Amino acid sequence: MTRGYAAFPTRFPLYNAPDDLPPQYGCGPIKFNGSNNALYERHLLFDNALSPSEVGDRERYEAIARSVRDVLSQRWQQTEETYSRENPKRVYYLSMEFLIGRSLSNNILNLRLDPMARRFFAENQLDELAILAQEPDAGLGNGGLGRLAACFLDSMATMQLPGMGYGLRFEYGMFKQQIVNGWQCEQPDNWLRRPDPWEVARPQLAVTIEFGCSFEVRGGNLKATAGASTLLGIPYDRPIVGYGGKTINTLRLWASAATNSFDFQGFSAGEFVSALAERLTAETVTRVLYPDDSTSMGQGLRFVQEYFLVACSLADLVRRFRLNNSDWNCLPDKVAIQLNDTHPCLTVPELMRILLDDAGLDWELAWDITKRMLAYTNHTLLPEALEKWPLRWFELMLPRHLEIILEIDRRLREEIVTRWPEDNDRAERAGIVERGAGHLVRMAHLAIAGSHSTNGVAAIHSRLLRDVTVRDLAELYSDRFSNKTNGVTPRRWLLMSNPGLANCITNAIGDRWITNMADLELLKPLAEDGEFIAAVGMAKRQAKLRFAEWLKSQAGIQVDPDTIFDSQIKRIHEYKRQLLNGLRIVALYNRLRENPHVDMQPRTFFFAGKAAPAYQVAKLIIKFLNNLADTIDGDPAVHGRLRVVFLPEYCVSMAERLIPASDVSNQISTAGYEASGTSNMKFMMNGALTIGTRDGATIEMAEAAGEENFFLFGLTAEQVAAGRDWYNPWWHYENEPETRAVLDLILSGHFTRHEPMIVDALRNILLIGGDTYRHLADLGSYMAADLRLQSLYTKQEAWTRRAILNIASSGKFSSDRTIAEYANEIWHVSPCPVP
Ligand SMILES: *Cc1c(COP(=O)(O)O)cnc(C)c1O
Repeated sequence: MTRGYAAFPTRFPLYNAPDDLPPQYGCGPIKFNGSNNALYERHLLFDNALSPSEVGDRERYEAIARSVRDVLSQRWQQTEETYSRENPKRVYYLSMEFLIGRSLSNNILNLRLDPMARRFFAENQLDELAILAQEPDAGLGNGGLGRLAACFLDSMATMQLPGMGYGLRFEYGMFKQQIVNGWQCEQPDNWLRRPDPWEVARPQLAVTIEFGCSFEVRGGNLKATAGASTLLGIPYDRPIVGYGGKTINTLRLWASAATNSFDFQGFSAGEFVSALAERLTAETVTRVLYPDDSTSMGQGLRFVQEYFLVACSLADLVRRFRLNNSDWNCLPDKVAIQLNDTHPCLTVPELMRILLDDAGLDWELAWDITKRMLAYTNHTLLPEALEKWPLRWFELMLPRHLEIILEIDRRLREEIVTRWPEDNDRAERAGIVERGAGHLVRMAHLAIAGSHSTNGVAAIHSRLLRDVTVRDLAELYSDRFSNKTNGVTPRRWLLMSNPGLANCITNAIGDRWITNMADLELLKPLAEDGEFIAAVGMAKRQAKLRFAEWLKSQAGIQVDPDTIFDSQIKRIHEYKRQLLNGLRIVALYNRLRENPHVDMQPRTFFFAGKAAPAYQVAKLIIKFLNNLADTIDGDPAVHGRLRVVFLPEYCVSMAERLIPASDVSNQISTAGYEASGTSNMKFMMNGALTIGTRDGATIEMAEAAGEENFFLFGLTAEQVAAGRDWYNPWWHYENEPETRAVLDLILSGHFTRHEPMIVDALRNILLIGGDTYRHLADLGSYMAADLRLQSLYTKQEAWTRRAILNIASSGKFSSDRTIAEYANEIWHVSPCPVP
């Protein structure tokens, strides 16, 4: 094998892509370049009826995106035609969130049009980055759960599986984050203000959804008024291009619209949502995404959103099934439905309603069909995230569904009592309806009872789910439980976002890894190859330079690429422990203040992430981190050695830039709390080394790469659980001098000179309130791991060798592997190639 390891500073990776469109696109030899850019020029001139002198980058973006859509649209149709003709078993992925980010460069890449695109931009003298930046991130999700759904769609299309995503077309996606005086401020994200070139509205396929009541808001409370009402669901389709462009699947997003009989005045919610909700009219249901990650706010509007998603999607897929099949008994042979968390779990009673009332089946048969079709993925063990809906709401809005749920509950309790006649509380613990104040429907229990498969998203998470969180049900249905460790798509998260490293890899082992990540194992021997080590080191340096340049142009922030880039980017949550990272930084700061000659690697710490608008502690953590950044920045004693940067507006596009540039990935959740994590995987593929706790998928990553190539520290999940009754943060304060010095400096107000309430809040979280998330218990071992990390960084070759071993072991964390497991073990679907 000949190897030229040089990493190219190109924006798109170079590999053997055809110069012209491959014939499979069915639209002849259209050249997408400067000499024959007919598609582009036509869109540019005619779509907006502007003269060339009047168009700006936004119009250019739209014209390019529409040209790419023209190129893929025939293949998109052919995909659906093939599925209609072949009538394979299909899989429907139901999710409240799809955090897809930008589509243009990803679609160009997956269609393998990138060499042409590169030439096109050059020949037309267009500013590629400026044009790509015209596309807003489709922020239809909060974080990991929504991003997982997006990665899964990419893998299903790439693997030619007949799959489809169903979600909601939120007019306002995830809020935009601004930092004002250190505090988070939320701004609405009106991402659809300008026409979106990717979506295709299909009003002819609209469905009508029925509710048992009409709605209005009185005094901040959801109020149902007499009389049934209906709501219209209008589908908007987006193409999901598989790598190589062979299969183009569909993401169908529903928008709500009024029918004449729908009387809907609005709902109230948390501050941010209610500010928007007040203006809402009949089209309210899909107006805004709830910005709460891992928390259920229990809002009535959210309940209606969940039912709306389920009812529209089931009506649509049942109609499609009926076009090709006459026998309802075949449904489970033709349809698999994956429920992404409990958000779409009203699918259980809705499907039962269809089978009982529309198809006229008897209960036993309907129940059997329902269970065989449905599978449920759990995403969190946090009690505040487990959805429970008031029985009363079912009574008002969905009375037929309530009847069905009560019957499911009755039968489940009967089954439990028969099997465990001695255990009096078990039926109460495991039942679907939680009796007591208000009566609540436990959605996770409904999902487990009404499906044939329940999975967690990493080995440790699946184990805790089964053995602790829903133990009673897991004992009853032990054969339904399994693990499916999450993954991320290497197309977006390596090939597209890190062209330098992708080239290095391809030059070394060929390009099969793009769709077969197990190939990365071939890099293992190259961890000893000096030339390859140098090339990977160079690729990292290029990514850092690229990021630094971008940051300067975007935000005017200057960072030094010769420092360690040490990142923690994710939703701000107490369990994710950004505060622990803050404590580490204060400890390092203290060391430098005490002894300016101390041996310490210069470092830049990056934080990014949003806090739920109603989550006060998380917002306080953002404020503290910003204060830390300001104080350290203003202290000449540590200038050039420590730097803290909080990057506002974390989103997919930012992750694509920062992850390739990072040397260190912080995955430091309190053990037992992070279900899986997926940014940990993105960092690993991009050659960052992980400093982290034994939690979520990080455990499996360290297993794959060897623990000696990780910086693991801290309590295990078992130790965290065992200490629940006796853990005392004061012990660490009294007995660990460095911990004490860190807290003393913070509590002295050093970082919060005119903000004593922040000091009070931090004292409360970390000491007086008992330190629920064990920051102090883990700080000492975090600092020890940090010393090991710094020491390794002084030996650049050894560092890069470990980075290579991490990359080489990251194949398991491709979403292709995850989807293969779902397809084989849960869905029983096979590829349906488009000829
Ligand atoms: C991957 C990703 C996440 C998930 O990050 P975790 O660290 O696993 O919580 C959240 N948001 C965005 C934008 C992502 O790309």
